[in-house]
Amino acid sequence: MTNPQPPVETDAPEPRAFAVDTHCHLFLMEGDMAEVVRAARRARVERLICVGIDPVSSRRSLEMAESFRGVFATAGVHPHSASEFDRPAGSAIEELLADPLVVGVGETGLDYYRRLSLPDDQQRAFRTHIALSRETGKPLVVHVRDAWDDALRILAEEGAERVVLHCFSGDEQVVREAAGRGYFLSFAGNLTYPGAGPLKAAATAAPEGQVLVETDSPFLTPQAARGAPNSPANVVETAAALASLRGLNLDAMVRLTAEASFQAFPLLR
Ligand SMILES: [Zn+2]
Repeated sequence: MTNPQPPVETDAPEPRAFAVDTHCHLFLMEGDMAEVVRAARRARVERLICVGIDPVSSRRSLEMAESFRGVFATAGVHPHSASEFDRPAGSAIEELLADPLVVGVGETGLDYYRRLSLPDDQQRAFRTHIALSRETGKPLVVHVRDAWDDALRILAEEGAERVVLHCFSGDEQVVREAAGRGYFLSFAGNLTYPGAGPLKAAATAAPEGQVLVETDSPFLTPQAARGAPNSPANVVETAAALASLRGLNLDAMVRLTAEASFQAFPLLR
């Protein structure tokens, strides 16, 4: 069968698949940031979200976003520092959130494993971040460690709307609950570690359109590069691990996670 009209849609070259590192801490990395960003681009990682952990690093993240095309920032106070989340810190974060290059609120959340701040302080700071997320419409970047019950309860109580669970570590039951609420699940380099069986099960159970990838640089270097500090270029390793778990090729996985990243972070462009 012949068709005299060239099929415009299908003949158009597919947009180049590029990866998004939805969570890195450039301000904690050593070396020349311009080179880090270039190396990421060479590995086709063309969007990086530099996640603030306190007012100073959130400001630094915004400066990085202003300096490098493809880099975006968030503003927030990490649960480890929740005890320092006072009124001036809150105002500093709120001010940064007014900038369109600041695409998310956080990182915030609950960490009952290291407990570097009292759980009460963590919960108070978490609730305030959720309120900021609701006010600004910017997604909440959430860190949870050994605190799933409280984290999911507080997110529901405070009516959190747009949620990214960073460095996802929950089990399949948490996947079901979080995915059912429309939250995004972001997987990091620890997915590539031997012994990551339960995490792999969780990553396989997560619905396709809600799966993101991240490096959490300079932490959690994927297995293939282990021993060196992590870098945003390595997010492709996590995408590859996800692809093999889910029976997709790498290009398809990169495309899916990039598309989900734009859904999760509407100001990413
Ligand atoms: Zn982080």
